[in-house]
Amino acid sequence: TLPKIYAITPTYARPAQKAELTRLSHLFMLVPNLHWIIVEDANTTSSLVRSLLDRSGLVDRSTQLNIKTPPEFKLQGKDPNWIKPRGVEQRNLALSWLRAHVDVERHAIVFFMDDDNSYAVELFAEMSKIKPGRVGIWPVGLVGGLMVERPLLNADNTQVVGFNAAWRPERPFPIDMAAFAISMDLFISFPQAIFSYEVQRGYQESEILRHLTTRDKLQPLANNCRDVLVWHTRTEKTKLNAEEALQRKGQRSDD
Ligand code: UDP
Ligand code: MN
Repeated sequence: TLPKIYAITPTYARPAQKAELTRLSHLFMLVPNLHWIIVEDANTTSSLVRSLLDRSGLVDRSTQLNIKTPPEFKLQGKDPNWIKPRGVEQRNLALSWLRAHVDVERHAIVFFMDDDNSYAVELFAEMSKIKPGRVGIWPVGLVGGLMVERPLLNADNTQVVGFNAAWRPERPFPIDMAAFAISMDLFISFPQAIFSYEVQRGYQESEILRHLTTRDKLQPLANNCRDVLVWHTRTEKTKLNAEEALQRKGQRSDD
């Protein structure tokens, strides 16, 4: 039987949220062994997320949590998006929920998923091959200034010996959050593994992985790291100038 995959998704309210989450929920309808931990960056859980889980039949295969990013760490309107790490509080809450709730005897996988990336359903079959005690790794498309960021393997394709990263290649793990998933037992063995605000830009992946594994122990997946099954797509900020004009007159287009 397939191991359960715990997908951890931080999410926050903005005009495109429902569209992004609808896309993800429809993907999850195709992945039976997945449990979605959706963590809202808010003071309460929302009816938007609740009804979305309802409509996609995911209520029994999901956990709806919430925790608000402290204001000192929240991006301000004109801040460039890289100035502060996003999703730290939410991913850590999901990790403490997992550490408290999972059956440690059962092999399971943990995967951190942005709500705006694009995922192929085959990625979850690949992830299901991750062995206990290991971190699985694969390429990610459209990230780090490249078409594909990928791990480089040894001659018999059994070990990662390097990375093709162009952006900050000196990082211990120069990869995107979407490039790996982790055997749950590692989070139990290494309780100090959490995300932190106190890291440089681009070091969040290295921050979590340095507690859990080393390069030589990474498990290459996705056809010896040749297939691209996830893309770091980003949704442009929705332009609502006409909507704002309407709302100044006390009207809205979506009432
Ligand atoms: N996110 C959040 N609160 C925020 C900003 C982002 O919970 O204030 C979530 C977002 O929904 C996504 C994840 O954190 O699931 C990563 O954010 P984003 O996709 O904006 O980061 P990027 O892909 O640009 O690095
Ligand atoms: Mn994103």
